[in-house]
Amino acid sequence: MRFAWPNGYRMAVCLTWDVDGESGVYFRFPERAERLLGELHQRLFGPQVGIWRILQTLERHGIPGTFFIPSSVAEMHPDVVEAIVAAKHPVGLHGHLHEALETLSEAEEIAVLERSQCILAKHCGYVPALYRAPAWELNRRTPEILVRHGCRSDSSLMDDEAPYALETQAGPLIEIPIQWALDDAEYWAHSRANRDKPLADPQTVLNFWQSEFDGFYRSGGCYVLTLHPFISGRHATMQTLERLIEHIKRFDGVWWTTLEAVTAHAEALLGAGTLPVRRSPPPSAES
Ligand SMILES: [Zn+2]
Repeated sequence: MRFAWPNGYRMAVCLTWDVDGESGVYFRFPERAERLLGELHQRLFGPQVGIWRILQTLERHGIPGTFFIPSSVAEMHPDVVEAIVAAKHPVGLHGHLHEALETLSEAEEIAVLERSQCILAKHCGYVPALYRAPAWELNRRTPEILVRHGCRSDSSLMDDEAPYALETQAGPLIEIPIQWALDDAEYWAHSRANRDKPLADPQTVLNFWQSEFDGFYRSGGCYVLTLHPFISGRHATMQTLERLIEHIKRFDGVWWTTLEAVTAHAEALLGAGTLPVRRSPPPSAES
C-alpha cells in the first residue's frame, strides 16, 4: 500500500546532515586525539567550511534541511547552530561526543541523552525532539528511553522506505528509515585509517542516488539522504548534491521537507490509525 502524503504529494525528500565535526574522534580515539592533529583538523572542515556551503546551497534552491548535531559540537561551534536555527532548519539530537550506544550502560546512555537535550536547548531555544543514533546504531533499550525523554522520532533504522511507528514499552516512536546507499560516508569517508578504500567517482554516486530517487518516486516513499559537512562539503561532492537536486526538481509532486514535518505528519496518521505499527525482532530466535 502506498504511504499517504499530505496535500497530494506522491513522495517526500529529506536532505539531512549529521554535523559530527571532531566529536567522534574524542570518543572513539581519545589517545589519537591527544597526540595527533590530522584527523581532528580534517573533521573541522565541516563546521568551518562545509556547513556554510551547505546552508548557501539550501538557500539558493529554496529547500529545507534537517541537522543532527552532537551537543559537544554545539558547544565548540555555537555559530553553526545559530546559523542553522536562524535559517529555520530543524535540529536533532546525535549524542554529546557521538557516543557509540553499544558501549554505554543504561545510566550512561540516559545521562548522555539528557546532557545533549540540555545543551542543544540552550543553543536552539527549544528542546530538540528528533533523534538519530551516532553511526545509526540503536541498542535494544534506546527506543524506549527516547520516548520516555520526549523524543518524537528516530531516523536510524533500515527496514522500510516510509515512516512507521516502532512499538516500545513507553509508547510508539516514529521511525523515519535511512539506508547505506544514501549516505555520503560510504562513498567518500576517507582518512589515514582506511586509505585502502578509494574515494568513489562522483558520477557513480550520482547515478546511485538518482536511481534510488527514481524508485522512491514510483513507490511513494520518504527519500532520506544522510550527509556530513566534513565529508561531502567539498567541491566535487557538493556538485554531486547540486546535480541530484536539479534532477529531483524535474519531478512534480515531490514534498521537499524536513524530518520534523515528516514526524508531525506521521504522528497525525498514527492518531488516525493509518500509520503502520512495527515491533523490533526478539533478542533471540527462541524468545
Ligand atoms: Zn554522526
